[in-house]
Amino acid sequence: MNYEAVIGLEVHAQLQTNTKIFCSCETAFGEEANTRTCPVCIGMPGVLPVLNRKAVEYIIKTGLATDCTINRSSRFARKNYFYPDLPKGYQISQYELPVCEHGKVEIVVDGQVRTIGITRIHLEEDAGKNLHQSGGNSSLVDLNRAGTPLMEIVSEPDLRTPEEATEYLKKLRSILRYIEVSDADMEKGNFRCDINISLRPAGSTTFGTRAEVKNVNSFKFVQKALEYEIKRQAQILDEGGKVVQETRLFDSSKNVTFSMRSKEEAHDYRYFPEPDLVPIVTSQETIDGIKATIPELPDAKRSRFVRTYGLPEYDAYMLTQTKALAAYYEEAAGLSGQPKVVSNWMMGELMRLMNAENREIEESPIRPDKLAGMIKMIGEGTISTKIAKTVFEEMYKSGKDAATIVKEQGLTQVSDTGAIEKIIAEVIAANPAQHADYKAGKEKLFGFFVGQVMKASKGKANPDLVNDLLKKKLNE
Ligand code: ADP
Ligand code: MG
Ligand code: ZN
Repeated sequence: MNYEAVIGLEVHAQLQTNTKIFCSCETAFGEEANTRTCPVCIGMPGVLPVLNRKAVEYIIKTGLATDCTINRSSRFARKNYFYPDLPKGYQISQYELPVCEHGKVEIVVDGQVRTIGITRIHLEEDAGKNLHQSGGNSSLVDLNRAGTPLMEIVSEPDLRTPEEATEYLKKLRSILRYIEVSDADMEKGNFRCDINISLRPAGSTTFGTRAEVKNVNSFKFVQKALEYEIKRQAQILDEGGKVVQETRLFDSSKNVTFSMRSKEEAHDYRYFPEPDLVPIVTSQETIDGIKATIPELPDAKRSRFVRTYGLPEYDAYMLTQTKALAAYYEEAAGLSGQPKVVSNWMMGELMRLMNAENREIEESPIRPDKLAGMIKMIGEGTISTKIAKTVFEEMYKSGKDAATIVKEQGLTQVSDTGAIEKIIAEVIAANPAQHADYKAGKEKLFGFFVGQVMKASKGKANPDLVNDLLKKKLNE
């Protein structure tokens, strides 16, 4: 049987506020356990939560950046469950009235544009962390993370393949970073994802029963977990069985998912409106004010790069992955006046060197003005593209500018006809047999002579001139 996968994702993104969502404790990563806590976030009886204004601003910003409707009035709800990392016995979340609803995000997979609906985005608090001692018979609880502001971004079941799911997550991450509401760092657990997946016979319009895989924390794992689920569910269906609606976990050492518990229903949580917090009421002016702080987003920037700089879609897509990368590009393109050449160097040599060291563009030892300076020297014929590779690596190592390196190392391109003719004469004299063969019709030997001349000039001879002059001299 041929199946189509139906996938919906729930993403938890940590908002990059300085303090927690309902108290003034610092949000910090990697601090000593239980040092960023107070009576509110450890759930002492009788305390009252006070909402962090910045968290509201950030979620509205996210809603606006993903085409959501911003509810002018929204409300918190208690989601009741017991777990040692949740001292209150309930999580403050949102249920019927989230801050944002009915949004969308566009992704491109295999050249196809697809629109993925966003059902809702709501605010909630994070729980603490249980630390299970290896070999011991006790567990410890660290509440530093309890009360950290999260937003949950729920997608419609619009995704159809693991590739689309990964692309959607990357797009979401890119948007959150552009608007500076979350660093969306998966490694730190600031961007986590629950995967909902079901299969249906290809062509069918109804949905099958889904499984939910909780808390997957890398793009690769999302891909692997989905691939595994597609295989697992297809086998059950092929054998005439029924997929059980349940919550599963992903084991990244074996690339498999396994059952954790039967799926909870909303009523299991006994949601009810949070009595300690007033509704969030937002004025149109506030929304407009936040809208004004949204920068040009990745999609808009990508199409502008294609229009303004004449870049291929792919280059534009790559160069707008982060705001910093795009800004670097625009500065170098402007200074050099050669946008496509800048793109080639950035996507080729620069990314190669940076990726090898896992560096971000902000840390590049070659600043945009230096890259532009080198590209100008190529354009003016001072250095050849080949020599430029050497100059580029030296710039990367030393941080010096191209002109200084070229001068120090005597790398200026030789465009003096007399000097090149002299080298050519020497090369021909040294290779009489090849010369005779060439004249007898072995034209492939032309490349050999070009190579010899370039080698003799230590790569500095102007390649165009070498070509022209060689053609003449070899046939004389
Ligand atoms: P819950 O909170 O219980 O997980 P929701 O109804 O809010 O339930 O759905 C959560 C996610 O599951 C959403 O992202 C939605 O798109 C996705 N989803 C719902 N039904 C299906 C289905 N049949 N197959 C795949 N995904 C689904
Ligand atoms: Mg869910
Ligand atoms: Zn606190």
